[in-house]
Amino acid sequence: MGKAANAAPKSGPAISKDDSYLQSVVPKRIALFESIKAQQLSCRQSIAGDPIKYSSALFSYTCPITHSLTHTLLITLPDGTVKEGKKWESTPFDIAKELSKSLASNALISQVNGALWDMSRPLEGDCELKLFTFDSDEGRDTFWHSSAHILGQSLEMTYGCKLCIGPCTTRGEGFYYDAFYGELGLNEDHFDQIALGAKKAVAEKQPFERIEVSKEQALEMFSDNKFKIEIIEDLPGDKTITVYRCGPLVDLCRGPHIPNTSFAKAFTCLKASSAYWRGDKDRESLQRVYGISYPDQKRLKEHIAFLEEAKNPGSCFFLPHGSRICNKLLEFMRNQYWKRGYEEVWTPNMFNMQLWETSGHAANYKENMFVFEVRHDRCS
Ligand SMILES: [Zn+2]
Repeated sequence: MGKAANAAPKSGPAISKDDSYLQSVVPKRIALFESIKAQQLSCRQSIAGDPIKYSSALFSYTCPITHSLTHTLLITLPDGTVKEGKKWESTPFDIAKELSKSLASNALISQVNGALWDMSRPLEGDCELKLFTFDSDEGRDTFWHSSAHILGQSLEMTYGCKLCIGPCTTRGEGFYYDAFYGELGLNEDHFDQIALGAKKAVAEKQPFERIEVSKEQALEMFSDNKFKIEIIEDLPGDKTITVYRCGPLVDLCRGPHIPNTSFAKAFTCLKASSAYWRGDKDRESLQRVYGISYPDQKRLKEHIAFLEEAKNPGSCFFLPHGSRICNKLLEFMRNQYWKRGYEEVWTPNMFNMQLWETSGHAANYKENMFVFEVRHDRCS
């Protein structure tokens, strides 16, 4: 009884870290980022303060800001309220502050004329503005996408790996980051170490800062990472490329992001697997780490509990109202089959997988089939 309760605490696996990569890459990327940021900020401030200055070509790089004679802009909110702001100066965060303190501290992302927009990004002209918190799809997606940068930062700083891509996954599932680690394979023994790096980034309240770069600047910035170079080379030459920084990580990304890393208070790794670069089996083998994050520990715990419950296959029993809904849905689905030229077949609800292998269904649809092991249990 209680025999295995005193197991030694898990110490992480030995880490092979590419320090020389980090030492050469991190300061270089930050220096480039900061110098471009300074140029763009001075251009922006000049426009916001005095539009005439712009025409005097004070700046040695091409400033993307259009010359405009008026500073004022009108911001229309979803309820029809109109607020006044300053072009290239007022940000969605400023407007959130005017509306309420709680909105200012909970808004994660905004939408400006239909496009998602960082809370700290200055508004450029008259616009319709919406603000989103974690309780919206837009807020959650941005939250998880931003958490992928936090994960990426931890992976890079812990292992000196070469980051590839790190999107948020489909809604409700968090995010992942693919990276190249050479010979190292990651597994759940690495998770504590990775979560520790993420926790550090969150504690530092690193802002997500945005700059626009030319293709040449992007190629220079990421010259030590052949995966990022490949992505940049595939971009059309005239496309505006955006780069974001949070803490030591400077990453190629379209954005947008949450204001800073401190919002991702509850963070954990879920699983690790391998993946091929660009899904091509002839290319490099990468390690993919999946994570999930929430603004608080309570919601993270609920999610983990939900994942645990989902591990047990279950079946639903429909009561009369549920049966009516189910039949309505079936009727709708059948109509769609016929309308789209499909025919209907009936199969046993459960069958040995060999049948689906013979029929060819397994080869094509296995990922979407509900498969489980039946040992010597009685089933009906
Ligand atoms: Zn991003």
